[in-house]
Amino acid sequence: MSKIGIIAIDGPAASGKSTLGKKLADALGYLFFDTGVMYRAITWLALDRGLDLADEAAITRLAEQADIDLRPPSQADGRSSDILADGEDITWDIRAPEVDANVSRVSAYPGVRRALGVQQRRIGLRGKVVMVGRDVGTVVLPEAQLKIYLDASVEERASRRYQELTDRGEPADYGEILSAMQRRDFIDSNRAVAPLRPAEDAILLNSDALDAEEVLAEVIHMVKDPDGTV
Ligand code: C5P
Repeated sequence: MSKIGIIAIDGPAASGKSTLGKKLADALGYLFFDTGVMYRAITWLALDRGLDLADEAAITRLAEQADIDLRPPSQADGRSSDILADGEDITWDIRAPEVDANVSRVSAYPGVRRALGVQQRRIGLRGKVVMVGRDVGTVVLPEAQLKIYLDASVEERASRRYQELTDRGEPADYGEILSAMQRRDFIDSNRAVAPLRPAEDAILLNSDALDAEEVLAEVIHMVKDPDGTV
Protein backbone atom coordinates (compact mmCIF):
# COMPACT_ATOMS: atom_id res chain seq x y z
CA MET A 1 0.00 0.00 0.00
CA SER A 2 1.17 3.54 -0.70
CA LYS A 3 1.95 5.66 2.36
CA ILE A 4 0.89 8.71 0.39
CA GLY A 5 -2.68 9.44 1.47
CA ILE A 6 -3.09 13.00 0.21
CA ILE A 7 -1.97 13.96 -3.29
CA ALA A 8 -2.20 17.58 -4.47
CA ILE A 9 -2.08 18.44 -8.17
CA ASP A 10 -1.97 22.12 -9.10
CA GLY A 11 -1.36 24.01 -12.32
CA PRO A 12 -2.88 26.39 -14.87
CA ALA A 13 -6.02 25.87 -16.97
CA ALA A 14 -6.04 22.80 -19.23
CA SER A 15 -2.58 21.61 -18.19
CA GLY A 16 -4.00 18.09 -17.90
CA LYS A 17 -4.49 18.17 -14.11
CA SER A 18 -7.98 16.72 -14.11
CA THR A 19 -7.17 13.94 -16.57
CA LEU A 20 -4.10 13.00 -14.53
CA GLY A 21 -5.95 13.33 -11.22
CA LYS A 22 -8.85 11.13 -12.32
CA LYS A 23 -6.64 8.39 -13.75
CA LEU A 24 -4.35 8.47 -10.73
CA ALA A 25 -7.28 8.30 -8.29
CA ASP A 26 -8.77 5.36 -10.22
CA ALA A 27 -5.43 3.55 -10.22
CA LEU A 28 -5.04 4.00 -6.44
CA GLY A 29 -8.72 3.57 -5.49
CA TYR A 30 -8.69 7.13 -4.08
CA LEU A 31 -11.31 9.88 -4.24
CA PHE A 32 -10.81 12.32 -7.12
CA PHE A 33 -11.72 15.87 -6.14
CA ASP A 34 -11.49 18.70 -8.69
CA THR A 35 -11.70 21.94 -6.66
CA GLY A 36 -12.17 24.01 -9.84
CA VAL A 37 -15.73 22.71 -10.21
CA MET A 38 -16.70 24.44 -6.97
CA TYR A 39 -15.50 27.85 -8.21
CA ARG A 40 -17.19 27.16 -11.54
CA ALA A 41 -20.46 26.17 -9.84
CA ILE A 42 -20.58 29.39 -7.80
CA THR A 43 -19.84 31.40 -10.95
CA TRP A 44 -22.58 29.60 -12.87
CA LEU A 45 -25.08 30.14 -10.04
CA ALA A 46 -24.21 33.85 -9.84
CA LEU A 47 -24.70 34.27 -13.61
CA ASP A 48 -27.90 32.19 -13.57
CA ARG A 49 -29.38 34.31 -10.77
CA GLY A 50 -28.34 37.52 -12.49
CA LEU A 51 -26.15 38.65 -9.58
CA ASP A 52 -23.73 41.52 -10.13
CA LEU A 53 -20.30 39.84 -10.20
CA ALA A 54 -18.76 43.05 -8.86
CA ASP A 55 -20.86 42.71 -5.69
CA GLU A 56 -18.32 40.88 -3.54
CA ALA A 57 -20.63 40.63 -0.52
CA ALA A 58 -23.44 39.03 -2.55
CA ILE A 59 -21.10 36.56 -4.27
CA THR A 60 -19.51 35.67 -0.94
CA ARG A 61 -22.95 35.05 0.61
CA LEU A 62 -23.79 32.83 -2.35
CA ALA A 63 -20.60 30.77 -1.82
CA GLU A 64 -21.42 30.43 1.89
CA GLN A 65 -24.99 29.29 1.30
CA ALA A 66 -25.02 27.39 -2.02
CA ASP A 67 -25.63 23.66 -1.95
CA ILE A 68 -22.97 22.25 -4.31
CA ASP A 69 -22.67 18.49 -4.47
CA LEU A 70 -20.43 16.01 -6.31
CA ARG A 71 -21.80 12.53 -7.03
CA PRO A 72 -20.62 9.50 -9.00
CA PRO A 73 -21.33 9.94 -12.72
CA SER A 74 -24.96 9.17 -13.67
CA GLN A 75 -24.21 9.24 -17.42
CA ALA A 76 -21.38 7.90 -19.58
CA ASP A 77 -20.87 11.14 -21.52
CA GLY A 78 -17.29 11.82 -20.55
CA ARG A 79 -18.02 13.29 -17.10
CA SER A 80 -15.94 12.12 -14.14
CA SER A 81 -18.72 13.03 -11.68
CA ASP A 82 -22.11 14.71 -11.56
CA ILE A 83 -21.99 18.32 -10.34
CA LEU A 84 -25.23 19.42 -8.69
CA ALA A 85 -26.27 22.89 -7.55
CA ASP A 86 -29.40 22.92 -5.41
CA GLY A 87 -30.15 19.46 -6.84
CA GLU A 88 -29.88 20.54 -10.49
CA ASP A 89 -27.34 18.79 -12.76
CA ILE A 90 -24.96 21.53 -13.96
CA THR A 91 -22.06 19.24 -14.97
CA TRP A 92 -21.67 20.67 -18.47
CA ASP A 93 -23.13 24.14 -17.80
CA ILE A 94 -20.08 24.98 -15.68
CA ARG A 95 -17.82 24.40 -18.73
CA ALA A 96 -19.50 27.18 -20.77
CA PRO A 97 -17.27 29.99 -22.13
CA GLU A 98 -19.25 32.49 -20.01
CA VAL A 99 -18.16 30.63 -16.87
CA ASP A 100 -14.56 30.42 -18.18
CA ALA A 101 -14.59 34.17 -18.72
CA ASN A 102 -15.82 35.04 -15.21
CA VAL A 103 -14.60 32.32 -12.85
CA SER A 104 -11.25 33.95 -12.07
CA ARG A 105 -12.99 37.09 -10.92
CA VAL A 106 -15.27 35.15 -8.57
CA SER A 107 -12.47 32.94 -7.25
CA ALA A 108 -10.32 35.97 -6.38
CA TYR A 109 -12.77 37.04 -3.64
CA PRO A 110 -11.24 36.06 -0.26
CA GLY A 111 -14.65 35.22 1.27
CA VAL A 112 -15.45 32.86 -1.60
CA ARG A 113 -12.08 31.12 -1.17
CA ARG A 114 -12.62 30.84 2.58
CA ALA A 115 -16.08 29.28 2.20
CA LEU A 116 -15.01 26.75 -0.44
CA GLY A 117 -11.56 26.12 1.04
CA VAL A 118 -13.06 24.97 4.37
CA GLN A 119 -15.13 22.34 2.56
CA GLN A 120 -12.18 21.22 0.42
CA ARG A 121 -9.91 20.85 3.42
CA ARG A 122 -12.48 18.88 5.42
CA ILE A 123 -12.85 16.38 2.58
CA GLY A 124 -9.11 16.23 1.85
CA LEU A 125 -8.12 15.51 5.45
CA ARG A 126 -10.07 12.24 5.31
CA GLY A 127 -7.15 11.01 3.16
CA LYS A 128 -7.03 8.64 0.17
CA VAL A 129 -7.66 11.63 -2.01
CA VAL A 130 -6.27 13.19 -5.17
CA MET A 131 -7.20 16.88 -5.03
CA VAL A 132 -6.73 19.08 -8.07
CA GLY A 133 -6.73 22.89 -8.34
CA ARG A 134 -4.58 26.02 -8.12
CA ASP A 135 -3.75 26.25 -4.40
CA VAL A 136 -4.17 22.72 -3.07
CA GLY A 137 -0.48 22.18 -2.28
CA THR A 138 0.09 25.74 -1.06
CA VAL A 139 -3.06 26.58 0.93
CA VAL A 140 -5.81 23.93 1.04
CA LEU A 141 -3.71 20.89 1.98
CA PRO A 142 -0.10 21.96 2.62
CA GLU A 143 0.40 18.63 4.45
CA ALA A 144 -0.13 16.63 1.23
CA GLN A 145 2.57 13.97 1.00
CA LEU A 146 2.91 14.33 -2.76
CA LYS A 147 2.55 17.65 -4.59
CA ILE A 148 2.66 17.86 -8.35
CA TYR A 149 2.68 21.12 -10.31
CA LEU A 150 1.62 20.28 -13.85
CA ASP A 151 2.35 22.88 -16.51
CA ALA A 152 2.26 23.19 -20.31
CA SER A 153 2.63 26.09 -22.74
CA VAL A 154 -0.45 28.28 -23.13
CA GLU A 155 -0.65 27.41 -26.87
CA GLU A 156 -0.70 23.69 -26.11
CA ARG A 157 -3.32 24.18 -23.38
CA ALA A 158 -5.54 26.30 -25.64
CA SER A 159 -5.39 23.72 -28.39
CA ARG A 160 -6.37 20.97 -25.92
CA ARG A 161 -9.36 23.02 -24.77
CA TYR A 162 -10.30 23.68 -28.41
CA GLN A 163 -10.21 19.93 -29.06
CA GLU A 164 -12.32 19.16 -25.98
CA LEU A 165 -15.03 21.61 -27.09
CA THR A 166 -15.13 20.41 -30.70
CA ASP A 167 -15.21 16.77 -29.51
CA ARG A 168 -18.36 17.63 -27.57
CA GLY A 169 -19.80 19.26 -30.71
CA GLU A 170 -19.62 22.78 -29.25
CA PRO A 171 -18.56 25.83 -31.23
CA ALA A 172 -14.97 26.88 -30.57
CA ASP A 173 -12.55 29.54 -31.81
CA TYR A 174 -8.86 28.86 -31.09
CA GLY A 175 -7.86 32.54 -30.94
CA GLU A 176 -10.62 33.38 -28.48
CA ILE A 177 -9.80 30.37 -26.30
CA LEU A 178 -6.12 31.37 -26.28
CA SER A 179 -6.73 34.95 -25.21
CA ALA A 180 -9.35 33.94 -22.59
CA MET A 181 -6.86 31.44 -21.16
CA GLN A 182 -4.07 34.04 -21.02
CA ARG A 183 -6.44 36.38 -19.20
CA ARG A 184 -7.46 33.67 -16.72
CA ASP A 185 -3.82 32.63 -16.09
CA PHE A 186 -2.92 36.25 -15.41
CA ILE A 187 -5.72 36.80 -12.87
CA ASP A 188 -5.16 33.41 -11.17
CA SER A 189 -1.42 34.05 -10.83
CA ASN A 190 -1.65 37.65 -9.65
CA ARG A 191 -4.53 37.67 -7.17
CA ALA A 192 -3.74 38.70 -3.59
CA VAL A 193 -5.09 35.54 -1.94
CA ALA A 194 -3.78 32.05 -2.81
CA PRO A 195 -2.30 32.89 -6.23
CA LEU A 196 -1.41 30.09 -8.62
CA ARG A 197 2.18 29.04 -7.96
CA PRO A 198 4.02 25.79 -7.23
CA ALA A 199 4.48 24.87 -3.56
CA GLU A 200 8.14 24.91 -2.53
CA ASP A 201 8.08 21.13 -2.15
CA ALA A 202 6.12 20.47 -5.37
CA ILE A 203 7.51 18.34 -8.19
CA LEU A 204 7.28 20.27 -11.46
CA LEU A 205 6.10 18.39 -14.55
CA ASN A 206 5.67 19.82 -18.03
CA SER A 207 3.16 17.97 -20.21
CA ASP A 208 3.97 19.72 -23.53
CA ALA A 209 5.76 16.70 -24.91
CA LEU A 210 4.01 14.01 -22.86
CA ASP A 211 0.59 12.48 -23.47
CA ALA A 212 -1.80 11.68 -20.60
CA GLU A 213 -0.56 8.08 -20.22
CA GLU A 214 3.08 9.17 -20.02
CA VAL A 215 2.31 11.78 -17.35
CA LEU A 216 0.34 9.18 -15.40
CA ALA A 217 3.21 6.67 -15.63
CA GLU A 218 5.64 9.24 -14.23
CA VAL A 219 3.39 10.07 -11.30
CA ILE A 220 2.55 6.43 -10.52
CA HIS A 221 6.30 5.88 -10.36
CA MET A 222 6.55 8.66 -7.74
CA VAL A 223 3.73 7.16 -5.67
CA LYS A 224 5.12 3.64 -5.63
CA ASP A 225 6.58 2.26 -2.42
CA PRO A 226 10.26 1.36 -2.50
CA ASP A 227 9.21 -2.28 -2.88
CA GLY A 228 7.41 -1.37 -6.10
CA THR A 229 3.78 -1.88 -5.09
CA VAL A 230 1.28 0.95 -5.51
O1 C5P B 1 -9.34 24.04 -12.98
P1 C5P B 1 -10.39 24.89 -13.66
O2 C5P B 1 -9.93 25.51 -14.93
O3 C5P B 1 -11.69 24.17 -13.81
O4 C5P B 1 -10.65 26.07 -12.61
C1 C5P B 1 -11.50 27.13 -12.91
C2 C5P B 1 -11.07 28.38 -12.17
O5 C5P B 1 -11.35 28.21 -10.78
C3 C5P B 1 -9.60 28.75 -12.26
O6 C5P B 1 -9.30 29.53 -13.39
C4 C5P B 1 -9.40 29.55 -10.97
O7 C5P B 1 -9.81 30.90 -11.14
C5 C5P B 1 -10.37 28.89 -10.00
N1 C5P B 1 -9.73 27.95 -9.09
C6 C5P B 1 -9.08 28.46 -7.99
N2 C5P B 1 -8.55 27.63 -7.06
C7 C5P B 1 -8.63 26.29 -7.21
C8 C5P B 1 -9.25 25.74 -8.35
C9 C5P B 1 -9.78 26.61 -9.29
O8 C5P B 1 -8.99 29.68 -7.85
N3 C5P B 1 -8.12 25.49 -6.26
